[in-house]
Amino acid sequence: MQGEEAVFNFKKIMERTRRAVFFGGAGVSTESGISDFRSEDGLYRQKYKYPPERILSHTFFTEHTEEFYAFYRDKMLCLAAQPNAAHKKLAQWEAEGKLFAVVTQNIDGLHQKAGSKNVFELHGSIWRNYCVRCGMPYPVQRIAAGSGVPRCACGGVVKPDVVLYEEPLDQSVLNGAVQAIRAADTLIVGGTSLNVYPAAGLIDFFQGDNLVVVNLGAPAKDMRGTLFIDGKIGQVLSRL
Ligand code: NAD
Repeated sequence: MQGEEAVFNFKKIMERTRRAVFFGGAGVSTESGISDFRSEDGLYRQKYKYPPERILSHTFFTEHTEEFYAFYRDKMLCLAAQPNAAHKKLAQWEAEGKLFAVVTQNIDGLHQKAGSKNVFELHGSIWRNYCVRCGMPYPVQRIAAGSGVPRCACGGVVKPDVVLYEEPLDQSVLNGAVQAIRAADTLIVGGTSLNVYPAAGLIDFFQGDNLVVVNLGAPAKDMRGTLFIDGKIGQVLSRL
């Protein structure tokens, strides 16, 4: 469904919603100027020696740390990016008591920048970094300003607190996200192709009344009983 009618129906759903949860992905931040993976100008279509999912894997980080950091600094460290209308509307709904939690696959921290408090970062955050040897935390500015492989005073490699491919998700974040989704009366899914597991599987825990999907193009997962709005999430949410 598209256009006025779909937005009207979404508005009606939000009027009767008491405990919404938002589940989102990289498409939520494209309107803030951060590339996603699978859009036409996403990272998959840009020319790199390896596909992004290989570069952002644990094996690649361990074996080609310098190359990992070249890509990471270039494409993932978007420190100047600002929240768009989608981030802002979700933060507003939380402040009004209408939205209980944001569950995000993003690592850019833009939901918190917009004012969201209860955010489950399934894949971690670029804003936290630590030494893999001694655990010492390092500010992201240290990673952004330097070149090559960032090292701790103890000599260990500094790693972003992001979940790389092949790495498990943090169990407490996962549990919190599942509980939030289970207890939601409305689940809004947006800006995600739903290709990345186990994150995409979390929406199966939803047992509430209203499932709304706002995405450019239909996501990979078949979701029945859904209000599907094919559009830009910032543009759609700003009309609510
Ligand atoms: P994806 O690239 O696989 O899919 C993005 C989806 O969003 C696509 O279906 C695309 O059509 C849609 N989309 C793009 N712009 C949109 C917009 N303005 N409004 C609505 N829909 C829009 O992303 P994914 O499903 O999140 O999976 C990729 C993985 O990459 C995730 O694990 C995520 O952690 C990571 N990632 C994160 C960032 C970030 O933190 N901003 C950026 C790139 C990748």
